[in-house]
Amino acid sequence: MLSSDEHDLFRANVRRFVREEVAPHADAWRARGYIDRDLWRKAGALGFLCASTPEEYGGGGGNFWHESIIIEELARAAFPDFSIPLQNVILAPYLMQYGTEQQKHRWLPRMASGELVAALAMSEPGAGSDVRAIRTHARLDGNDYIVNGQKTFITHGHTADLICLAVKTGASEGQGVRGFSLLMIETDETSGFARGRRLEKVGLKAQDTAELFFNDARVPVDNLLGGIEGRGFYQLMEQLAKERINIAMQALALTEAALAETVAYVKEREVFGKRLIDFQNTRMVLAEAKTMVTVTRTFVENCIARLIDGTLDPETAAMAKWWATDRQCEIIDNCVQLHGGYGYMLEYPVARMWTDGRIQRIWGGSNEVMKELISRTL
Ligand SMILES: Cc1cc2nc3c(=O)[nH]c(=O)nc-3n(C[C@H](O)[C@H](O)[C@H](O)COP(=O)(O)OP(=O)(O)OC[C@H]3O[C@@H](n4cnc5c(N)ncnc54)[C@H](O)[C@@H]3O)c2cc1C
Repeated sequence: MLSSDEHDLFRANVRRFVREEVAPHADAWRARGYIDRDLWRKAGALGFLCASTPEEYGGGGGNFWHESIIIEELARAAFPDFSIPLQNVILAPYLMQYGTEQQKHRWLPRMASGELVAALAMSEPGAGSDVRAIRTHARLDGNDYIVNGQKTFITHGHTADLICLAVKTGASEGQGVRGFSLLMIETDETSGFARGRRLEKVGLKAQDTAELFFNDARVPVDNLLGGIEGRGFYQLMEQLAKERINIAMQALALTEAALAETVAYVKEREVFGKRLIDFQNTRMVLAEAKTMVTVTRTFVENCIARLIDGTLDPETAAMAKWWATDRQCEIIDNCVQLHGGYGYMLEYPVARMWTDGRIQRIWGGSNEVMKELISRTL
């Protein structure tokens, strides 16, 4: 845990940033489908990007508790669309963990400043849950890889400057998971790379999600993450526990925010001459929700502490991801119900929380896949 002073100060800074720089523009960004590029630079200048990356590489030198505060404050403002966690908790750790020194110094400081927005591209039209089925491949040609293939559903696909791309590498094709590598694509400098359309989603309207195409794209061999072919699958798998705790935390934060909205609403709204909170059904539903949120927070915080001290196993992380995201969908649905018709109106935060949160049961390994993983420990 952070000291309470450090915790309060960091939270106050993030809250002010969200209130002043995010909230006033959120509707406009949702309407056009992406956030202002400048927001990344502002977040970088205030130290919110790569918050848990060591200072030596331009990061904030913090840990997952700092990341949790960022997640909570964005959820509180009903704007999880600003996917700082993807940059901080997923992409930066790939570089920190597996990048060569040269790669870390080349990209991390610019990710921390907001100059570079990063994306992770694994999924393909024929390969989502089954990552092994990817077909995008890279063949060596002199000092370059020639990349061909297609990715879909890629968060930041439209805005990313740096894409961590899962490929099958030529020399090791046919070697199963040992045929995987991660290539860092610098989008400005890559011929043969094209972005497809921005995909229309039911929620997270300001988070850009796109298809990517590689048609004889030329990528310098220096951009192979870690510099050794064939390690990609293990690199992806090793980071999954952190990615799943990240999703669990996002789900918890959104649930807590929706519950707070709903408690305030039922204390105001009157039907049949009394406040909604005065109906026993309302109190029962909210008492159950509060209990479930408390149980979830206890579990997720325990997982975060274990993540930080290196003792979190992948199956427990899978439990947290499944549990927190399922509770989120159940509780926020009840929150919508307590809002009546207003809960179905997008101008009410709870309606957006309902649609924004739905993806959590699907991405980062679907909840069905989580249960498969957990079942292996039985
Ligand atoms: C908004 C959004 C953003 C995304 N961002 C990214 C990103 O940045 N990068 C990226 O690489 N991907 C991203 N994804 C892709 C996401 O990770 C996949 O959608 C997810 O992994 C599921 O894959 P799929 O959609 O192909 O579904 P499928 O794999 O086709 O699954 C369909 C159904 O089958 C079930 N199923 C699959 N396997 C099993 C099994 N073994 N046992 C039982 N049931 C099973 C699933 O649970 C699901 O219910 C994003 C997706 C969305 C919608």
